Amino acid sequence: MTDGQLLFVVVAALYLIECVRWLPANALACVEGEGGCWRFRRPSANLGARGGGALLLAPLPPYSAWVVTMPWVFIPARDHLLVRGSTGAAARIAWSKLDARADVRSIVIGGHAPVLMNCTAQAAEWTARLGEWRAMDEAGREKSFLALAARSLDSADFEKLASSLAARTRILHTTGGMIFICCFGLVSGVHAWFGEGPRLWIALGLLLALQLVQAFLFMRATRKAVPGGGRVSHRFWKMLSIALLPQHSARAGDLLCRAVAASHHPLAARGLLNESAFLEEARRCWRIASYEGGSHPDDALPVEAVALKRFFKSAGIDLASLEDVPARQAGSARWCPRCLAQFQATANECPDCPGVKLREFDSADDPPESRP
Ligand SMILES: [Zn+2]
Repeated sequence: MTDGQLLFVVVAALYLIECVRWLPANALACVEGEGGCWRFRRPSANLGARGGGALLLAPLPPYSAWVVTMPWVFIPARDHLLVRGSTGAAARIAWSKLDARADVRSIVIGGHAPVLMNCTAQAAEWTARLGEWRAMDEAGREKSFLALAARSLDSADFEKLASSLAARTRILHTTGGMIFICCFGLVSGVHAWFGEGPRLWIALGLLLALQLVQAFLFMRATRKAVPGGGRVSHRFWKMLSIALLPQHSARAGDLLCRAVAASHHPLAARGLLNESAFLEEARRCWRIASYEGGSHPDDALPVEAVALKRFFKSAGIDLASLEDVPARQAGSARWCPRCLAQFQATANECPDCPGVKLREFDSADDPPESRP
């Protein structure tokens, strides 16, 4: 391997690292797509640890804006706090034993695994809120949660934030795409075909000029707080790395996306997603929330389900349309309405969802091969 090839491999590896974001395992990144239609991307379940997971952003241009959304992790119940994990399973912590502290991006509650949040500001905000909840009575906690839930489900606010972020980062993403092509296409191609010489120096000069332009654009785009209220920290040092390092320069727009400090629920993205993507997530959230702790009579919904029910009502979504029956697998007779796992006729309760009674399939749900 020549020195040039080695340098190409090193820069490519560093660039791929720039494309990876470490997010809370239950976070959903809302990524701008073609035609103004956004889509959800989840962190990898295989590349995850300690409540977090790796999300690989699209490594090839055109680049686009993204915003991290989070379902509610902390939910107050009558005599305990629910801490929802990435799979929907929840830990229950008695209010008298709740002692939370922020540790950078995580919230540490004694005796439990740290809960990773999207940013340090979010971890600090939630730690303070948990302290307030502990001091409140049940009605106060419920009122506080419902107010917070309504804010985090504000679709108009989320759409405004997402479109404003997309507009602010567009020029950075376009220039970033040109830097990617110049670095991995033009410079590498000129070096491979013509070797070192004047042509290579011209290509490198063009790359450096684009990086300097990107550094200027970055400083201009980060003069004010980013949409949603966050600020890009260490602007000057980031500007220097953008000016000098092609892998940072190409992904400069991501620095603004990372700085967004707002914390919206994934369902707030309703107006940006296609209907089927939204409904799939809505069904998942509704199942997990409404069957928390067992089968739900409508008059005793958990507070999380109450918040979602209000949201669906205001959005004109019929709750019956969210409670779908899974496609029946051969040999199964019952299904769990919370996690949709299927069981044989001898099972009564789902082992993963304590207290949730299984439902029986109707004969109309039989798989095609078993029908007469
Ligand atoms: Zn289940």
